[in-house]
Amino acid sequence: SEITQKYQILGRIGSGAYADVYRARRLSDDLVVALKEIHDYRSSFSEIEALQALRGAPNVVELLEYFWREDEDAVLVLEFLPTDLEAVISDAKRGGEIAVGEVKQWMQQILRGIEACHRSSIVHRDLKPSNLLISADGVLKLADFGQPSIPLEAFLEQSVSSREALLQLLTDSVGIGQVGVDEYMKELYGLKTRNMMYDSDKDMSLQDGDTSCLATCSTGDIDLDPFKSSYTNEVQEDLVDESGALTSCVGTRWFRAPELLYGSTSYGQEIDLWSLGCIFAELLRLDPLFPGTSDIDQLGRIISVLGNLTEETWPNCSNLPDYSKISFSKVEKPLGLEACLPKRSAAEIDIARRLLCYNPYNRATAAELLHHHYFIKEPLPVPISELRIPP
Ligand code: ADP
Repeated sequence: SEITQKYQILGRIGSGAYADVYRARRLSDDLVVALKEIHDYRSSFSEIEALQALRGAPNVVELLEYFWREDEDAVLVLEFLPTDLEAVISDAKRGGEIAVGEVKQWMQQILRGIEACHRSSIVHRDLKPSNLLISADGVLKLADFGQPSIPLEAFLEQSVSSREALLQLLTDSVGIGQVGVDEYMKELYGLKTRNMMYDSDKDMSLQDGDTSCLATCSTGDIDLDPFKSSYTNEVQEDLVDESGALTSCVGTRWFRAPELLYGSTSYGQEIDLWSLGCIFAELLRLDPLFPGTSDIDQLGRIISVLGNLTEETWPNCSNLPDYSKISFSKVEKPLGLEACLPKRSAAEIDIARRLLCYNPYNRATAAELLHHHYFIKEPLPVPISELRIPP
């Protein structure tokens, strides 16, 4: 095939629920790359779309090219990054700790990556140490953008009442860092269009013919996927509820924001900042902050540290879908973040506190945190060449 003509597989690196990753050599110039074969249609699109929109962004893994295979799997060719932040943490655990200046450098890089995503209205949804890949020279990059967001059909039903409005929406938003409609259509058209045609008797098509819904756009923090949710539901029922709202089943539990644990379907980019708070605490402690064993246990652990969830700390929290389904006995004396981060500086506690807020709107943004005095106070972030990277 086209792929094997250009790349030689050197070995398998990893495999997940929906993807296999291989190390490979580009035959034209011997460049070592990662080939990520994704077996899920929707995550393929989420990932390709996000990485294309983020092309050239700092601290985001680079997508070199991609292929669609006959069987509808996608193969992404990514720059090869030999290690990740999880390895840095477990390596440090053997040797003691990660120096303050190193934590600052890692945090600065993660924040730049998140800032780039959020500026392009892309929510990562699954930030955790093992998705923060690191090059041999210490450059950290966000990877694994395969978390599906929202099916097109659901979005249309919820937010766009008329064909004109949708057309306007697409015209306005295509091009903001996204693949152009034309390119997209060409690409999708090469595939089996049966999975992508929009149901014409619902009168939601944009144009005549098969390409009706083959456009993609993003408005605010809602990403549209060029998929029929019926297709999606076949393969990934668990991720899309009947109303077709944003799936709250995203991300790895330990790093999942409270609004997601309470079933929110209208979350935004703040979920990434909660995850970052958990990652930051882990860099300082070398142990996960909230290692929940179930979703209930996850919330229980959060509450035992941050205190009871109330309308004061989080206005309207009682409106969250699962609020009344899950109740916790009142925590009289919450542990507090200081107790989880003993002997850490006031600036460090402040960063953690600004990220780990119940109310998503109180969480600092990545752009704000990049200007935090934490980064200009001694010890300064070490140069990336001085970061300790596991062998
Ligand atoms: P999944 O969606 O299955 O979690 P990931 O993108 O996280 O897929 O990849 C799975 C594993 O493959 C990762 O944990 C990592 O070890 C490896 N991997 C992914 N992308 C790269 C890359 N660009 N370079 C090197 N290894 C990678």
